Amino acid sequence: MSLVERIRPELRALSPYSAAEQVDDTIRLNANESPFTAPTDHFRRPLNRYPKVRPDTIAERLALRFNCSTDELLVTRGSSEAIDLLFRAFCTAGKNNVLISPPTFSMYAHYARIQNAAVRAVPLTADFKLDLHATRSALDEDTSLVFVCSPNNPTGTSAEPEEIEELLVAAGPKTAVVVDEAYIEFSEHPSFTTRIREFPNLIVLRTLSKALGFAGARCGAAIAAPDVIRVLNAIQAPYAVATPVVEAVEDALSEASLAACDANVKALVEERERVRRELAELRFVNRIWPSDANFLLVEFDDVDTIMGLTRESGILLRFFGGDLANCIRISIGSVDENEKMLRALRTLEKHS
Ligand code: PMP
Repeated sequence: MSLVERIRPELRALSPYSAAEQVDDTIRLNANESPFTAPTDHFRRPLNRYPKVRPDTIAERLALRFNCSTDELLVTRGSSEAIDLLFRAFCTAGKNNVLISPPTFSMYAHYARIQNAAVRAVPLTADFKLDLHATRSALDEDTSLVFVCSPNNPTGTSAEPEEIEELLVAAGPKTAVVVDEAYIEFSEHPSFTTRIREFPNLIVLRTLSKALGFAGARCGAAIAAPDVIRVLNAIQAPYAVATPVVEAVEDALSEASLAACDANVKALVEERERVRRELAELRFVNRIWPSDANFLLVEFDDVDTIMGLTRESGILLRFFGGDLANCIRISIGSVDENEKMLRALRTLEKHS
């Protein structure tokens, strides 16, 4: 019994798009491309030609970074696209259900709705930990995906590696545990990308949008067993990653650029803890959650006043409402940006 059997039967044998052959140093009259390059074309590869059907140079560099092999990885347009592909592959509309642990990233429920998959919400505990017992009880024959966002957006809290391991075992071979590691670089916890062979029902999502500062490039990856990656690859649009993105990401994944990113992550984590200390000084701050990410979730006395005041100062924060009615998520910006935010909040301290 393998996880791929959970993929919609009509998709399991789907072949990837059969693209026109691309061979270097040949006259390419096989893909209806233009022979003319645009005057604005300043890329390493000419834009009148299609990109590679799959960006192998990026796949190789990401596989190296994530310690997996290229057949265990699919380069996606942000991890958002990977989430969408997973729902399409693993959820037969009206039949399968997925488990999520709110408060969590809203796009899981969004893509579930698009695919008409039932969402079973197993809330995090009061201190935002996974409720393993309740999650286990919510699993059934038709559960195809269990999402574990760690570090979790918007709480910033992480699941313990042992809890994820326990969930992988409890889920069984035909239910995928999807570990979304969008913020893992800001955390001390180990990544699960190296555990794919140990747990055949594990799927890990990574992105270049956060620690690498590449949200505008739209690049991420799904890491899973090769037979699962093969089907996700067949579902994904051909030529999904555009030439300008391929080249930008190749540069972003150079050794020098990655070293600079590591330094930025370290600085951001220090800055997160400095901002935490400063916020903790304010009388109207009730609670600041521990964070393994590039943001803090803060509970205030009066969120409306805080949201209004910061907006008036040209600073945007994120309010979610619902089960986070008194909380605001504050992304950690540059020292200057964070200082402006703190200064705006301190004016309230003077008036209260
Ligand atoms: N997962 C989580 C937990 C996120 O917070 C986000 C973006 N906010 C994503 C995935 C998607 O990011 P992207 O598509 O840019 O990789």
